[in-house]
This record gives sequence, C-alpha cells and structure tokens, in this order.
Amino acid sequence: MINREVVTDIVHWSERTFSFRTTRNYPNKFNNGEFTMIGLETDKKNIMRAYSIASANHENFLEFLSIKLDKGPLTSKLQKIKIGDEILIQDKSTGTLVIDYLKPGRNLYLLSTGTGLAPFISIIKDPLTYERFNKVVLTHTVPDSSQLAYLEELTLFNKRWDIITNNNFTYFNTLTRAPWDNIGRITQWVKEDRLHKAIKFEPINPQLDRFMVCGSLDFNKELIEYFSHIGLSEGNTSTQGEYLVEKAFVEK
Ligand SMILES: Cc1cc2nc3c(=O)[nH]c(=O)nc-3n(C[C@H](O)[C@H](O)[C@H](O)COP(=O)(O)OP(=O)(O)OC[C@H]3O[C@@H](n4cnc5c(N)ncnc54)[C@H](O)[C@@H]3O)c2cc1C
Repeated sequence: MINREVVTDIVHWSERTFSFRTTRNYPNKFNNGEFTMIGLETDKKNIMRAYSIASANHENFLEFLSIKLDKGPLTSKLQKIKIGDEILIQDKSTGTLVIDYLKPGRNLYLLSTGTGLAPFISIIKDPLTYERFNKVVLTHTVPDSSQLAYLEELTLFNKRWDIITNNNFTYFNTLTRAPWDNIGRITQWVKEDRLHKAIKFEPINPQLDRFMVCGSLDFNKELIEYFSHIGLSEGNTSTQGEYLVEKAFVEK
C-alpha cells in the first residue's frame, strides 16, 4: 500500500543533497537500514524511486536524504518540495543493510559515499547496534565539504545520543576533491591499514570485525573485491556474513 505523508521539515545541505522529514503513518515494522519506495504524484503517473529510510524505527517521523538531479525524473521535482506537501511512501521496506544479517563481531564499520550515508543514519540510532558491537564507526566520503550532509549532527552524535551509544560511536569523513584533514577514498584508508589507526580502533581483524557498505557501484565493487580477498563472506537476507553491501543508486 502507498501512504500519503506530509512534509514537516526540510534541510538543504548543498546544491547536490537535501533531507526531509514527513509524518509517519508508515507501520512500525521496518528494520533500521532498509529502503522503501517513495515518490510524487503527477498529472500523468506516480514517479516512485527506491530510498533508504534515514530515520530509526523508534522515531515518530520518517526521514530521507536525497540527491538533487536537474534532469532526474523524480529529484528535479522532489528538490522543490515545501513543508505541507505530500509525499507518496510505500509501506513495505526491504534491503540487506540490517545488523541481523551480520555474524556477531567486535567492531562495526559503516562505510559510505554520497547518499549512501542514509541507511547508516538509521542504524547508528538503534540501541541494538551498540549491544551487538563494541565500537561503531561511520565513514562518509564525498568530493567536497559542502556535501558532508549531517556534519554537525554526526560530529556531536556521541554527545547527543550518549544514552544509546555509550560513547562507542565514531564519525570519520574524507574528501576526494578538496583540501581537508582526511583526504582520499576510504577504500585506500582501509586497504592501507590507515583507518583503524586514525580512529584509534584495534587493527582490523577479519575474524572479529564486521562491515556494511553503501555507495557508488565502483566503491562497492572495490570493497567487495578487497573483503573477499581477505577471506570475508557477504551476508544477505537469508545468510549471515561478515559484510553486507547495498547500492546507493543504480547507474544507468
Ligand atoms: C536500494 C537503493 C536505495 C536508494 N536510496 C537512495 C537514497 O537514500 N537517497 C537518494 O537520493 N537516492 C537513493 N537511491 C537512488 C534513487 O532511487 C533515485 O535514483 C534517485 O532519487 C534519483 O531519481 P531520479 O528519478 O531523479 O533520477 P534517476 O533516473 O533515478 O537517476 C538518474 C541517474 O542519476 C544517478 N543517480 C541516481 N541517484 C543518485 C544518487 N543518490 N547519488 C548519485 N547519483 C545518483 C544515476 O547515474 C542514475 O542513473 C537509491 C537507489 C537504490 C537502488
């Protein structure tokens, strides 16, 4: 079933991304990290696209982080929404980025590029994430700092959500096309054994540590190759693995 939800809040992070909240008639049943179909009603037909739910399932609103594409059938219109507008949201969700699909482990690495950040915003708000794993790091890589959506929230997340995180959350960002404290693709940081040092985690141990990946096709592909090279198996909705992968979008 498709619900009509009302937009209650909008944040334009940059010329490339924005996020928005809606009311929530959506049933209280999605798993944190899943995606659903959302869209707009137009004269001709509904335009619906897959979107990760960025809010957690214990929150009384729904939140989404969106790209802005001038020529995108949906996002050319969606980027112009205003508070009070209606969004269509399918009341079923799915996806592989769910902590239940990971084998038990020590530290959890959530690795994202671009709007691939969205499912992890949901997962880091889930108390179970911190019951299952000792330490949790969320990495976000984008071309320049204007695209670091949720920068302040994530920088202050441990402080603001300490009842849930117990101070075990770390946020780490890198830029690929502008000067910054941390430069370069996170794939290199992982492969060159630099990430764990920068965030003061134990050295990555394939037997103990677990990973979730959400980004562009190239980013996902490179990490899948690396993880299989170090002997990790990919999990899915029916079999637990040491890592999980979801596309942040489909390249046509
Ligand atoms: C599992 C899944 C989850 C998704 N979650 C999100 C999400 O949380 N937020 C979000 O903005 N999009 C997400 N997408 C992409 C989304 O479904 C749409 O493609 C996007 O909203 C653009 O829609 P459009 O109709 O404007 O353009 P489309 O015709 O859908 O896309 C046009 C082209 O733009 C590029 N593109 C599409 N989406 C993105 C993106 N997010 N970042 C960079 N380039 C992109 C691709 O090359 C694509 O072929 C997800 C896709 C999948 C498969």
